[in-house]
Amino acid sequence: SSISRFSTAAALEEPITPPVKVEYTKLLINGQFVDAASVNSTCVNNITGQLIADVAEGDIEDVNRAVSAARKAFDEGPWPRMTAYERSRILLRFADLVEQHADEIAALEAWDNGKPYEQATSDEIPLFIRLFRYYAGWADKIHGLTIQADGPHHVETLHEPIGVAGQIIPWNFPLLMYSWKVGPALACGNTVVLKTAEQTPLSALYVSKLFHEAGLPPGVLNIVSGYGPSAGAALASHMDVDKLAFTGSTETGKIVLGLAAKSNLKPVTLELGGKSPFIVCEDANVDEAVDLAHAALFYNQGQCCCAGSRTFVHERVYDEFIEKAKARALKRVVGDPFKKGVEQGPQVDSEQFDKILKYIRSGVDSGATLEAGGQRFGSNGYYIQPTVFSNVQDDMLIAKDEIFGPVQSILKFKDTDEVIRRANASHFGLAAGVFTQNLDTANRMTRALKAGTVWINCFDVFDAAIPFGGYKMSGHGREKGIYSLHNYLQVKAVVTRLKNPAWL
Ligand code: NAD
Repeated sequence: SSISRFSTAAALEEPITPPVKVEYTKLLINGQFVDAASVNSTCVNNITGQLIADVAEGDIEDVNRAVSAARKAFDEGPWPRMTAYERSRILLRFADLVEQHADEIAALEAWDNGKPYEQATSDEIPLFIRLFRYYAGWADKIHGLTIQADGPHHVETLHEPIGVAGQIIPWNFPLLMYSWKVGPALACGNTVVLKTAEQTPLSALYVSKLFHEAGLPPGVLNIVSGYGPSAGAALASHMDVDKLAFTGSTETGKIVLGLAAKSNLKPVTLELGGKSPFIVCEDANVDEAVDLAHAALFYNQGQCCCAGSRTFVHERVYDEFIEKAKARALKRVVGDPFKKGVEQGPQVDSEQFDKILKYIRSGVDSGATLEAGGQRFGSNGYYIQPTVFSNVQDDMLIAKDEIFGPVQSILKFKDTDEVIRRANASHFGLAAGVFTQNLDTANRMTRALKAGTVWINCFDVFDAAIPFGGYKMSGHGREKGIYSLHNYLQVKAVVTRLKNPAWL
């Protein structure tokens, strides 16, 4: 069967000419583009969007095929057996090819997801390339330890690839999520079956074609487009998948963890939701803080797991901050993602669009003050006005739930201890931002905040070397940096008895 893909970008009054030709729409299994096993193809219509392409929809049978290809490539193929230097060269060649096709890939990403083309070009593509070059650098620097144990033994640890990695990614950053998952898994010598999000399958298929041009052997990287409860669940519960990495909602995170537990107890890393505090202290440079808090929330249409979605502002600068935050939101350029200077495109689909509008209504109903926005933008498509609420209280839904849209909630605070307590009073713990010029306040906050990342006087810094992940219900494990290598390696202790050693 097939998934019909519609462009949210096309959902404007004037239709946009597709900026790219969609070439790859099938599943990528064992180095070949293949049809999905079941051939019932349905074409769903969508009155606001225009059809991009029919994309093969993978189901259980396709996941089985992809996993056997990955299994065979791991058990018998050259990938884990070649030198780490050769693997590294392939990752580097892949990064070069992506660089050569950057414009096309950025356009595909913007077309499929609705994010501004300029953002895809300036942020996603360079980060993607950098991440693969970073892990290419690690490939030949992975090694175990020799250990001094009691007794006449030589002890060493071998760091071995785990085997077949199953990876499930969301739609908000299709390329970046691909890189965070595939980069470290392949650098360590594993093979992969990756399930893209049903909303955004296109860029992964395109770049994976380039990966094979770069010399990746067949079966090492398999891409299955498809839905969560079918293809995703099949991957999470597969007995031949040795490790699972998931990014998405906390709710789905619980499901996949359960599926892993019920099948073969595969280790799972989870990158889940957040409700990250952005704390503006009384001594902060307010203009800078306003701009950063704006970007921290509205970036990528507000569809970021680490969005600074609780803007805590000290009472002394609160009124000034609100005025400026409102002015900044009103200036935000919303529109056709392919137009120059556009900062915000449409939300990814009607489901997200409806959910966000519901949260906006709940903010109004619960008594928060609507300072800007509050409605859909235009009369067509999934665009939402940049929205700012002030006077938000901790117990309001807009202060507790992940909205995943362009809705800034501003809360007032009086002192450091209070804001730390309130910031930590969440089931989530993904990230936090602190704006202050006082070193002692900054140090106190970095130690006290329960979050996987604390950004001081900055936000959304996504260097390949910096680990990312959550405390509490924001997830398990860390991605990026040296930390991600541990997700994809087994540690084997080898103990050899020594006879007549000269010393112990
Ligand atoms: P989701 O968790 O349903 O989807 C993420 C991925 O999981 C997709 O590939 C999906 O197909 C897959 N999936 C869904 N159900 C599955 C199942 N039963 N078994 C295995 N895989 C499954 O997220 P969504 O519905 O696209 O978005 C819902 C909310 O999740 C958003 O509003 C947002 O709050 C949050 N979200 C968070 C992130 C993040 O980066 N942390 C990303 C996307 C969405």
